[in-house]
Amino acid sequence: HLPLSVLISLLTATAVYLLSGSRISLAYPISHGISHREFKVYCQPIINSVDGRCIGVETLMRWKNRRQEWVSPDVFIPLAEQHGLIIGLTRYLIKTVTDNLSVFPATSGFYVSINVAAQHFNNMEIVDDIRKIWLPAQPSVSLMLELTERTRLQELRAAEISQLKEMGILLAIDDFGTGHSSLSYLKTLNPDVLKIDQAFTASIGTDAINATVTDTIITLAQRLNLKLIAEGVETREQVDYLRKRKVDSLQGYYFARPMPIEVFPIWLARYEKS
Ligand code: C2E
Ligand code: CA
Ligand code: CA
Ligand code: CA
Repeated sequence: HLPLSVLISLLTATAVYLLSGSRISLAYPISHGISHREFKVYCQPIINSVDGRCIGVETLMRWKNRRQEWVSPDVFIPLAEQHGLIIGLTRYLIKTVTDNLSVFPATSGFYVSINVAAQHFNNMEIVDDIRKIWLPAQPSVSLMLELTERTRLQELRAAEISQLKEMGILLAIDDFGTGHSSLSYLKTLNPDVLKIDQAFTASIGTDAINATVTDTIITLAQRLNLKLIAEGVETREQVDYLRKRKVDSLQGYYFARPMPIEVFPIWLARYEKS
C-alpha cells in the first residue's frame, strides 16, 4: 500500500504535468496561427454620446484555429502573454490596421485603439513598433493604446510615455475600476482617456453599490479633465444614464458588435445614413 501522502504528491505531479503539457500544446498553435494568418482583426465602433457620431474604433483580435474552431480572446490572449507571443500578435495587428487605413474616415480626430500588453513596453518595443510600422504609413487617423491596470507600474517608464505623447499617441486605461492601483497609476500614465469597465455599465439600474462606484469614476474623470468611454453599453437605459452624466463616448452591442475590419466602412455608411 502506498501512504496517502505519497499518493497525493503523485497525483499532484501528474496534474502539473498534464496542465503544463496542455499549455505547451496550445502555445504551438498560436505561433502556427500567426504565420498562417488565422488571426483576424475586428473593430468595434466608439460613439460620441452628444451627437451620436462614430469617432473611433477599438480593434479586437479573433482566432479561428486550423480545426476551424473559434477560440476566445479570453483564452488565447493570456496564453500568448505567458508564452511571449503577444508582442508578435500585436505587431501583426498593427501591420494589418496599417494596411487597411482606407477603411477609416479621414475626419480629423478619428482614432483606432489597440490593446497593448505590459511586456510590449519592455525595452521600448512598442515605441519602436509604432515608429517602424505605424508612423511611416502617415495615417490620417490617430492611434490610441489601451493599457490595463494589470500593466505593472515599473514597466511603464516615464521616458516611454513622453515619447509616445510626442508622437501624438493617445493613452487609455482599460477596464478602469477593476484594478487595484488606480490612483498612482493615473499619476504615472497621465492618460487621455479612462474606459469604464463593462461591469460598471451593467450595474446601471440594477446594482446600487456598483452604480455608486460608476458615478464616482465619472466624477473623478471629469475632475481630472479626462475623457471617458463607457464599455459594454447594451441598453437604451444605459445610454440615457451615461449621456445625462456627460460621459463622452459609448461602446457596446447597443450600437454595434465587433466586426471584421473590412466590414467597418459598410457599417459606417449605413450608420451615418440612419
Ligand atoms: P477588452 O479590451 O475589455 O474588450 C472589450 C470586450 O467586451 C470585447 O471582448 C468585446 O467584444 C466585448 N464587448 C463589447 N461590447 C460589449 C457589450 O455590449 N456587451 C458585452 N457583454 N461585451 C461587449 P473580446 O473581443 O472577447 O475580448 C476580450 C478581451 O481580450 C479584451 O477585453 C482584451 O482584454 C483581450 N483582447 C482582445 N483582442 C486583443 C488584442 O488584440 N490584444 C490584446 N492585448 N488583448 C486583446
Ligand atoms: Ca480594451
Ligand atoms: Ca475593457
Ligand atoms: Ca475586459
